[in-house]
Amino acid sequence: MILRLFCPKCAYYAAKEKHQKGSSQIAIDISMQVSRPSDDGKYEVHCAAAHVSTVTVDNVKFELLFEMGLNALVDGYPREAVSSFTSALERFYEFYWHVATAFHSIPTEQADVAWKAVAKKSERQLGMFVTAGLLLTKQCPDLLNPNQEVKFRNNVIHGGYIPTADEAIAFGDVVMQLINDSLATLRTLAPKELMATYERLSPAEKKEPRAKSVEIIWNDAEDHTGTVNILSAVDVRHPVTAKDDLRHGGVADQFKRILRDREPHRLNLLDKH
Ligand SMILES: [Zn+2]
Repeated sequence: MILRLFCPKCAYYAAKEKHQKGSSQIAIDISMQVSRPSDDGKYEVHCAAAHVSTVTVDNVKFELLFEMGLNALVDGYPREAVSSFTSALERFYEFYWHVATAFHSIPTEQADVAWKAVAKKSERQLGMFVTAGLLLTKQCPDLLNPNQEVKFRNNVIHGGYIPTADEAIAFGDVVMQLINDSLATLRTLAPKELMATYERLSPAEKKEPRAKSVEIIWNDAEDHTGTVNILSAVDVRHPVTAKDDLRHGGVADQFKRILRDREPHRLNLLDKH
């Protein structure tokens, strides 16, 4: 999977120039750097103008892992897709659990200590998720079917089974449905805690809310950093609502979008000052 990044310094100079000409929304041509996903979400970008800067990907782990599964399918690796979908679901369980503990006003440091105790065991994490779901919704959350998806997943991950693309797509569809249904529940029951947990777990810099009419101080010597958000098929902050959203539908419906995202792009810079 390729992540599309940009040079924050080039963006800064382009924004400065456009701003001085009096435009507020601009589309600029700056070279888009690409990179493979990294675990900490931080990327060092070297551009053609010899700037070196840092770009952070503002996504939580399960969103990116699910996209990696989709990319693996597009590239013809169904086994790797099943592995990424499985990891996405496990990291989603963790995310959900953190939202639920926040909802019950558990201090984050206590939640982090508690999670550490189960961090290496996926079966224990499943137990944490089930309990969190019960406490939050008074109902047992939807889970993978032990006789179907769980059996299939174990066969692929532990048994070395090589699945067909169709089998991997069907597995991905169940995972996607499960995550999106649970996210919809969280948006209804605990919207504030959902956003707070996202912000806490995303690697993006935690920003102070910016006051509205601030005079911009252009400082060329300042250390410019950038943030990008990858729109994903399982997306906490940008759920798919419209039918014409390219993420609409199931796993196989995403392939067109993924191939399109690999085409050369132009950067649209929204100047929010
Ligand atoms: Zn640059």
